[in-house]
Amino acid sequence: MTKKQEKQWDVAVIGAGPAGYVAAIRCAQLGLKTVCIDEWINHAGEFSLGGTCLNVGCIPSKALLESSRLYQQAKEEFAVHGISATSLKVDVKQMQARKQKVVQDLTQGIQTLFKANGVSLISGRAKITSINKIEISDRSTRKKIEELHARNIIIATGSSPVRLQQAQISDDCILDSAAALEIDKVPKRLGIIGAGAIGLELGSVWSRLGSEVVILEAMQDFLPMVDKKLANLMKRSLVNKNSASRLDIRLNARLISAEVKNKKVQVIYEDTASSNKRGEIKERFDKLVIAVGRKPNSDRLFGEELGIERDERSFVLVNKKCQTSVPHIYAIGDVVRGPMLAHKGSEEGLMVAEHIAGNFAEVNYDLIPSVIYTHPELAWVGKNEAECKAAGIEYKVGSFPFIASGRARAMNESEGLVKIITDAGSDRVIGVHIFSAQASELIAQAVLMMEMQATAEDIALTVFAHPTLAEAFHEAALAVNGRAIHIKN
Ligand code: FAD
Ligand code: NAD
Repeated sequence: MTKKQEKQWDVAVIGAGPAGYVAAIRCAQLGLKTVCIDEWINHAGEFSLGGTCLNVGCIPSKALLESSRLYQQAKEEFAVHGISATSLKVDVKQMQARKQKVVQDLTQGIQTLFKANGVSLISGRAKITSINKIEISDRSTRKKIEELHARNIIIATGSSPVRLQQAQISDDCILDSAAALEIDKVPKRLGIIGAGAIGLELGSVWSRLGSEVVILEAMQDFLPMVDKKLANLMKRSLVNKNSASRLDIRLNARLISAEVKNKKVQVIYEDTASSNKRGEIKERFDKLVIAVGRKPNSDRLFGEELGIERDERSFVLVNKKCQTSVPHIYAIGDVVRGPMLAHKGSEEGLMVAEHIAGNFAEVNYDLIPSVIYTHPELAWVGKNEAECKAAGIEYKVGSFPFIASGRARAMNESEGLVKIITDAGSDRVIGVHIFSAQASELIAQAVLMMEMQATAEDIALTVFAHPTLAEAFHEAALAVNGRAIHIKN
């Protein structure tokens, strides 16, 4: 093979996050000659695969959530089990080292998977220079490294944190979510801008470890995309004054400025609720985390002349099959419309790989589960009540509280509930909402039930092991038609 021939690929994937690396592996499995290009350099200065999810997102945040939850349990919940743990200490450096090891093992695992499946890898920044040509340059010097030709290109370049003009990132004190995952000493007072998934999860980590956490959220509603009842339950639980690891969540907070003074962050915000005419409010924090959403990485990736269209928020425009306006150029994951979730991107990666190989595949965008990993966890899939009302759907609701679950009581985890929403006419399940311990695991069975188009009756006729948290599904399904056993219907 000549050198020139070697640079011809069936598929070139730009980005090795959960969307790109999954797409690349599946393409190679399908016999396509595949190369994946990524530019990620981790905080130790090493080239690292896995994108946001593995390096500074899902995995490190869940590792810290797990460690901090263990500490919280030992501190606040062991006593009720008759276990005393009196001289508890937190070693944040060890906690961070464990997290780093988890991340390192998983990111290196992708290299192994690439090798095992025959995916070639290039480290560098990619730019699409014509409809089947990619130029790769050195990330720091910007010098061209090489050029390759691909019959198909998959854009999987992900997203980056949105920045705020009023609160410029400063290394030590005003942090983005990636830096907030690296904090090595429990801050006494931690401010967070944004009560979304990141704000609530990172707020939970540090409040459990002893920080006083204040979250400033611009919106009037807490988690507006979540079923109202569950959002209210969750808020009440997180702000609970009796918990040592409570979050102080302030809605209607318009950030005016954040400045670093003497190694502290001085924040000025305004409470915009009409009932609270308190003018400007000042707060001082040891650290401030900005968690106000993420934006797609689509700038400088291709020239306008190629005809790859983007929307007004810079998301690459795609159809249901993730094809851009240019044939054979696809885009998947955070860089396109839809929820910014790792599993959504991975599924799109699988779909596109099959499509390129000439097979049929699709993503069921109506059934993408969401989880917020606080404690208890919040998980949902399908429609909530407000969405049913807006769509004019006649629906029924069946709920079951974990206080009536034997397993939940035995675990001392009786907070929360399962809520099932069905179509009143067909009895089909159209939404499931869970606030409970292990809701992230429980939601998988809801997704499966809905994929199989189960009715409440189907679930009511299913045998669930006893005692389990999952029995709450059974009871909630029974409750849809007024037949629950362990609660008053
Ligand atoms: P990314 O993971 O962002 O990967 C994109 C890759 O493309 C990167 O490696 C980047 O280096 C590379 N790249 C970009 N431009 C170029 C270029 N020009 N040339 C070469 N390479 C390039 N989601 C969940 O589902 N569950 C969670 O629990 C969860 N927790 C999260 C916690 C945090 C703190 C954060 C920040 C995010 C979290 N997310 C979670 C969101 C999740 O991380 C993203 O949805 C997911 O990583 C998106 O995958 P992706 O492959 O589209 O993009
Ligand atoms: P988000 O969109 O979930 O929440 C951002 C919050 O910040 C919103 O509530 C918004 O109203 C608020 N906000 C925006 N501008 C503000 C301002 N100037 N002042 C105060 N509040 C402001 O975004 P995120 O939490 O940054 O997360 C980014 C993405 O990462 C999300 O799309 C999310 O899906 C994903 N993520 C997922 C998980 C998970 O699946 N468990 C965890 C973390 C992140």
